[in-house]
Amino acid sequence: MNKLDAQRQKEIQQAEELLFAGPQALGFAKGLFQGHFVSDWVMPYPRIPAAQQTELNKALAELRQFLDELDPAEIDRQADIPRKVIDGLGRVGVLGATAPVEYGGRGFTQMANCKLLEEIGRRCASTSVFVNAHHSIGIRALLLFGTHEQKQKWLPKLVTGEQLGAFALTEQEAGSDAANVQMQARPTDDGAHFILNGEKRYITNAAIAHVLTVMARTPVPSSDKTAITAFLVTPDMPGFTVLDARMQKMGIRGTATGRFALRDVKVPKENILGPMGKGLKVALTVLDFGRTTFGACCTGAAKTCLRLAIDHANTRKQFNKTLGEFDLVKKKIARMAADAYAMEAMTTITASLIDRGLEDYMIETAMLKVFTTERLWEVINDAFQIYGGSAYFVDLPLERMLRDARINQIGEGSNEVLTSFVALVGMRGPGMEFKEIYDTMMKPSRGQISRAWTAGMNRLGAAIRVPDVPVKSEQLRAHARQLGRCIWRFNFAVNRALIAYREPILDMQLVQERIAGAAMDLFASTCVLSRQDAEIQFARRNGDSAPPDQSAADLFLRQSFRRVRHFLSGLTDNDDKSLLATAKSYLAKRPS
Ligand SMILES: Cc1cc2nc3c(=O)[nH]c(=O)nc-3n(C[C@H](O)[C@H](O)[C@H](O)COP(=O)(O)OP(=O)(O)OC[C@H]3O[C@@H](n4cnc5c(N)ncnc54)[C@H](O)[C@@H]3O)c2cc1C
Repeated sequence: MNKLDAQRQKEIQQAEELLFAGPQALGFAKGLFQGHFVSDWVMPYPRIPAAQQTELNKALAELRQFLDELDPAEIDRQADIPRKVIDGLGRVGVLGATAPVEYGGRGFTQMANCKLLEEIGRRCASTSVFVNAHHSIGIRALLLFGTHEQKQKWLPKLVTGEQLGAFALTEQEAGSDAANVQMQARPTDDGAHFILNGEKRYITNAAIAHVLTVMARTPVPSSDKTAITAFLVTPDMPGFTVLDARMQKMGIRGTATGRFALRDVKVPKENILGPMGKGLKVALTVLDFGRTTFGACCTGAAKTCLRLAIDHANTRKQFNKTLGEFDLVKKKIARMAADAYAMEAMTTITASLIDRGLEDYMIETAMLKVFTTERLWEVINDAFQIYGGSAYFVDLPLERMLRDARINQIGEGSNEVLTSFVALVGMRGPGMEFKEIYDTMMKPSRGQISRAWTAGMNRLGAAIRVPDVPVKSEQLRAHARQLGRCIWRFNFAVNRALIAYREPILDMQLVQERIAGAAMDLFASTCVLSRQDAEIQFARRNGDSAPPDQSAADLFLRQSFRRVRHFLSGLTDNDDKSLLATAKSYLAKRPS
């Protein structure tokens, strides 16, 4: 085996261990890749239980009142979120929104939490990223994997904001390649402590946090290997050194992004979170939560852009007309409305998967993160364009929003890495079935023939059956049928790609991008249809004479189905060869 093959084998083994431990029910995204519509994951559209909704409404009212006093422009100018704002966020309960009541939290579900984050995302991205860093990821490992003793010790001060949390994964050598953490944690001879050494960079709240969840490598017993473990580290531990408290940056300037080093920092073994050596799994589970609230924050920001764009389009006149009378402006407004509707629906459904305790929603959270961050970037750009020159000046919020939004496509897993992840993890199910069939054809044995028969029937079943998309509202049946056909076509295209490319598809990111793009739009349009169905049914139950305005949802579905067709036709009709040749040539000889 050459070095490259050995590395590939190691990566596959790591991914298998990480992602596919234990039997799992077929989730929505994995179902799509098998040609199924797993309806109970996405329909009916989830609702927050009435009792919690009342409490959430109260929390939202309090939060809105608090946010009315917030000055996002000043936070941006001063590059600081003042302590009184942090105290206020603690008072209204957002810093411990999902923490259990017994530790002083509000006990909200992830869906309710997303509504709070959407509200903050509407107003100030610095503040929403700060809350995400503290609550969505900073204290998440403690909430999910902490023992009762650990929670009792740490949580009460963290949920009020008296103390702040941070999540420290990224290092010089471990950015997108999160598994490549180099920070070392060596056990002491008596096994009571670990000695941590290494550096972390780009960490939100690094220098203002009182408790940091830090990922470091621990030795694997009776082997020369190491694995990642999560530790709780506090800055008062000797050897904790802040290298840069606030790195100067272009957006979300209110957040304190920093670098720190751990130099022989002695951490008690009681500070380990989750199982030893399972820190990567801990980190990725934490990021599932972070990516959901990312979706909520992007939704909030998109709604603000839509409101600003409508205000301007209705008031600014050129050529004796308001801007809103021009079709090219209408096009932008309509697209923004459609995307904002879809972003909210997708966030709500993804959060509900977490709340229902379903297993394995990693593909859905990755799709949500990529989709909402890409849509928000477009939405801000459209709003910016409608404002013309005025958007360029700092007295309007759009230039700040544009700067703030740019991190979204990079942080918590860059969109390229997540796009590839969606395609590869999604294709694994049908890929394994094809492998079963192929291996049997090459070398038949009794057990293999029966497994290959099942795999073959599964593939055949998906190939001949258009999945049913069960909507209740008569007026949505045509869209539902179209979605079913798109899923069938998608499955067909995935099968064809797997048969045509076999194992090399693991490296073919241009193919992966189209497959993941189609999957994301199928998920988005499913969420939209589910939400639309629920709204129509709700109006019917209430006896409303006019159905709710469905124009944005309708437009989204049309455009989304069109995009799916475009992605799939691109699998066979593209310029990939020429594109790759050009990149190869230019990467080899950098132009002057
Ligand atoms: C403001 C800010 C706040 C942050 N907060 C935190 C935090 O609180 N905690 C924390 O742990 N980290 C944090 N990060 C780090 C962030 O998660 C990383 O920046 C991100 O994971 C990308 O890593 P990188 O910057 O090293 O980019 P790299 O890994 O060097 O990637 C650079 C680019 O290369 C491309 N790329 C990389 N790999 C692939 C691939 N396999 N396929 C195709 N393209 C690829 C992508 O386009 C990517 O954007 C923060 C970063 C910033 C800027």
